[in-house]
Amino acid sequence: NISERLKRISQYIPPKNKFADIGSDHAYLPCYVCLEDLSASAIAGEINQGPFQKALEQVNRYDLQNRIEVRQGDGLSVIYPKEVQSVVIAGMGGTLITSILEQGHENLRGVKRIITQPNINAKSIRQWFNEHNYDIVSEEVLEEDGYFYEIVVGDYSDSDLTTLSEKELYLGPINLRNKGDAFIQKWSSVLDKKIHIVKQMKEATQPDKVKITEFEQQINWIKEEL
Ligand code: SAM
Repeated sequence: NISERLKRISQYIPPKNKFADIGSDHAYLPCYVCLEDLSASAIAGEINQGPFQKALEQVNRYDLQNRIEVRQGDGLSVIYPKEVQSVVIAGMGGTLITSILEQGHENLRGVKRIITQPNINAKSIRQWFNEHNYDIVSEEVLEEDGYFYEIVVGDYSDSDLTTLSEKELYLGPINLRNKGDAFIQKWSSVLDKKIHIVKQMKEATQPDKVKITEFEQQINWIKEEL
């Protein structure tokens, strides 16, 4: 009974991997992956007591205690360097995901793939990936129950990466090449909202010129792609 969103995320975890799911809540994702892939194993990290208990219960329910370890702690502090090959951080804002990556940077040693699913602000993750030599290898926009989600996957690269443009950071370098239905839907909806907001901002008694310029730039980028 896993959501389509988590199913999509799970497809980016390489087979037979040992991975960490940070902010695991009910440990739905690691349980699903380990039931599907008998060679996979996982660490489910959770900061909060309630979700941590739920994760333990879920792992016990499926009798997966020998393959999924539930650990309570903040972000990447629950993993040791070189302990896992992939890390998943899903279902949070992009800013929070980026700060988890930044704070736990040391523990990412040995992590070949980072799979993120930001609810908003994917841009900050792309920027972090680009600055820390994680090459963006997959991206997608998906819609579920009227909400749009993004998935951004980065693979560690030994060579220098080309710096992404501001437009690529905003819309996603892979998304710009693929432009699926959900991408078009999401950005059409954002475009309408931004146009409306800019109109209102211009009518304010003291318009925020910097913000207006920023939004107008984004509006132009979106229009170029629809
Ligand atoms: N990853 C799951 C998903 O995508 O469905 C759960 C998403 S849930 C909205 C976010 C979870 O992250 C919550 O259970 C919350 O307690 C946990 N969380 C928030 N900040 C965290 C942090 N710094 N370290 C670990 N877990 C965190």
